[in-house]
Amino acid sequence: MENTELKNLWEQIKSGLIEVLPESAHPWIYPLEVSGYDKGVLTVVTGQMMGRDLLRKNHYHQIVDVIKRISNNQNSDFVIIYDEKAAKSLKKENERLQKKTLESKLKEQAMENLSNMQSASNLNLKYKFENFVVGKTNKFAYQMAMSVAQNPAKKYNPLFIYGNAGLGKTHLMQAIGHYTIFNNPKLKVKYTKTEDYVNDFISNSRNSKDTVENMSKFNKKYTNIDIILIDDIQFIESKNKTMAQMQHTFDSLYNKGKQIVITSDRVPKDIPTLTAALCSRFEMGLMVELTPPDLDNRIEILRKLSDDNDLKYEENALKYIAINYEKNVRELEGAFNKVSAYAEVTGRNLDLDLAKEVLKFADKKEELSFEKIAKVTAEYYEVDLNDIKGAARGQKVSLARHIAIYLARELTGKSFVNIAEYYNKKHTTIMFAHDKIKKELPLKKELAHAIREIKQVLKVI
Ligand code: ADP
Ligand code: MG
Repeated sequence: MENTELKNLWEQIKSGLIEVLPESAHPWIYPLEVSGYDKGVLTVVTGQMMGRDLLRKNHYHQIVDVIKRISNNQNSDFVIIYDEKAAKSLKKENERLQKKTLESKLKEQAMENLSNMQSASNLNLKYKFENFVVGKTNKFAYQMAMSVAQNPAKKYNPLFIYGNAGLGKTHLMQAIGHYTIFNNPKLKVKYTKTEDYVNDFISNSRNSKDTVENMSKFNKKYTNIDIILIDDIQFIESKNKTMAQMQHTFDSLYNKGKQIVITSDRVPKDIPTLTAALCSRFEMGLMVELTPPDLDNRIEILRKLSDDNDLKYEENALKYIAINYEKNVRELEGAFNKVSAYAEVTGRNLDLDLAKEVLKFADKKEELSFEKIAKVTAEYYEVDLNDIKGAARGQKVSLARHIAIYLARELTGKSFVNIAEYYNKKHTTIMFAHDKIKKELPLKKELAHAIREIKQVLKVI
């Protein structure tokens, strides 16, 4: 591994360690200097004998986990060597190298890259991997995008991300760009909306004077790069010339071993304007789909949004918004912003009442009632709804009742007292039932399966 690469890897691991390890261990982390990385084994040197011993004894597994995660190598390990002299000289060398890297590389190349990307409209610095909330439905796309960012043109080329509007295609695509800019500043990245590409091409070819020169400028702009990000390819024009040009751009990049990332709201074969030649090119790498996030993921997205903005909120309010916006994260965020802006202006708490008042969903969409949850659960277990609500004690009925209570709490966010009123039971009984299912859920597969199916019928996933 090249020296700069090694230092980069170490810098990332070091920040990972600072994040994960307790503050008491930080004084032992800061003085560590990296000296090598070979077949997954990271060697670091310290001038502190105690640091070496404590890190090994108390934090061995945490450290290995961080190295695994960051180096993406499951066979990771590490060695800490105590050597005062070596630690000092490595430190000096490190500082010198870091200064050089920062000054020359980051300044020149990253700035150039950043301005390149920013010159394209719609670049959003929020669109980074660390701001993408991973859930069941987007995990694979996230991992593949990350893999492409880490190994451009080595793994999946082109990477074709498709899915409906507002599900994070542009976010993931630009995350690849940002990752590259900050971690691999040697590489040139270009982000372009298909619309801009088409307009650029048309205006270049229309200009009757110097057409050849214009076209060569155009070609340079789109092929003299290492990673191209082409957003919303479904907007490609059906004109022959535009298609031919896109094919030319694609082929030049592909043949030079450059990474191509494309997004679309549908698979290539469903884009009517696309030529067969382009279609087969787009299909030849990896196609990943983004589907709407499930309820947990949607709540998590809102939680992150609130935390990032230092907003205080009531969990129920987030749940309410997430339940009502299932299909589109942009709209989900929009609804949240509306509620939080309203809270700010009126000085009220961001709670369920406020969310209901602002979004006024009551008449648009049926709120998930305890009755509906109990009914669907009763049907799933083939027991009588009245038995669930009553005091019947059969095994099946009890299980169904417990699940219905658990879901009532999880899906509506209402209080145990409210739920107790509906079931005509003590609220401690309701709490007991809820906790029982919550505890058993990670341990019992068939329970998790049943709950998933019931949720599907309730249309909350
Ligand atoms: P698309 O390009 O698929 O239409 P975008 O990438 O523009 O969607 O995403 C719409 C909005 O939703 C953006 O603000 C984006 O940051 C946000 N978003 C989508 N998915 C996620 C996610 N998993 N975590 C965080 N934010 C997300
Ligand atoms: Mg988009």
